[in-house]
Amino acid sequence: MRTIVQAFTGGLSSTKAYTDGDTEKLISSIERSGAESAIIGWNAGAPYGKITSTLHEMKKKAFLWLPVFSELGEEAVVATDYLGHKHAGAVSGAEDDFTFACPSEPGNIGLAAECYDRYFSGCGFDGVFLDKIRFSSFGNGFESGMGCYCKRCTGYYNSEGVDMGEFMELMESSNKSFLIPKALHGMRYSFENALIDRLFAARAKLMAESVAKAVGMFRQRGLEVGLDVFAPTFAYLFGQDIEALAEWADFIKPMIYRVTDAPAGIPYEAVHMKTELERNGCNIGDKLAELWGTEELHSDGCFKKQLTLLGKLPCRVYSGVEVNKADFCATSAEYVENTIKAACESEIAGCVLSWNVLAETVYPL
Ligand SMILES: [Zn+2]
Repeated sequence: MRTIVQAFTGGLSSTKAYTDGDTEKLISSIERSGAESAIIGWNAGAPYGKITSTLHEMKKKAFLWLPVFSELGEEAVVATDYLGHKHAGAVSGAEDDFTFACPSEPGNIGLAAECYDRYFSGCGFDGVFLDKIRFSSFGNGFESGMGCYCKRCTGYYNSEGVDMGEFMELMESSNKSFLIPKALHGMRYSFENALIDRLFAARAKLMAESVAKAVGMFRQRGLEVGLDVFAPTFAYLFGQDIEALAEWADFIKPMIYRVTDAPAGIPYEAVHMKTELERNGCNIGDKLAELWGTEELHSDGCFKKQLTLLGKLPCRVYSGVEVNKADFCATSAEYVENTIKAACESEIAGCVLSWNVLAETVYPL
């Protein structure tokens, strides 16, 4: 069982001071868990040179945690919803900004690497860990959850056989049950309506191509690359074809956060998906759970099914398990231990203690 620890130092221009106490906490979590590396970021003000030297002395690798299509400030071109409005700013209770940028815009694709060069090159990182490589979820509302429909993105969907005029007509209908997936194929969903089926496939293909470009920029800089992805139960619905993304990565970390009431947490995403779809003429009910052959998406059974599929991927997979603040994350020593045990019994490489060992209040190891 391999372990990685993840530490959040604050947003890019956060004024939160990083202290020696934080490094002590990081080291202690690495020692207690026997972690092989640490993912840390992305407050530009933290003393990464010192942190990476300490990690290297311990023979551990250091990955810079960096968002791609969100969080990188005003230079990013914000996504446009299908009604033509810019996505509204979305800040969660988890101290992040969840407003999403358009994944087609070349400037957006290159922004993470630019940011790396500006603030983090020369800090001794062995690799980067790329987060926010998806479209917005329904946590930001129905329109945002449908993704980006700017000129570039709609041009792409068109070239993949999605007639945008027909799509707009469909979206005007008061019954939007065409948005409910029909079947599960590995980690991808299919839809009864052929146009919607092509649209979701096109969104995932577009995202995979854009991520591949961003990954290439970091490879050119001699860096290893890890990717943060949604739990397989939701990933495809927000533009993540996990099988395609795994081709580009040294490792991936599916955020199978079963007790987190914040973005990417299964209870949070499930509730927002249900309510936002229902408000817009689509009663999805427990259809996703049913497709996974379970009653609840956060159940042990559903977790194990996801691990089985993830174990077949061509790169190393570390399941994300919550070691975090208890105010939005109902984690416990027992939950973390059970999650790690299930990961051990599967074919995946291990776990990432996520997403903030600096804030952890529960430590089971
Ligand atoms: Zn776009």
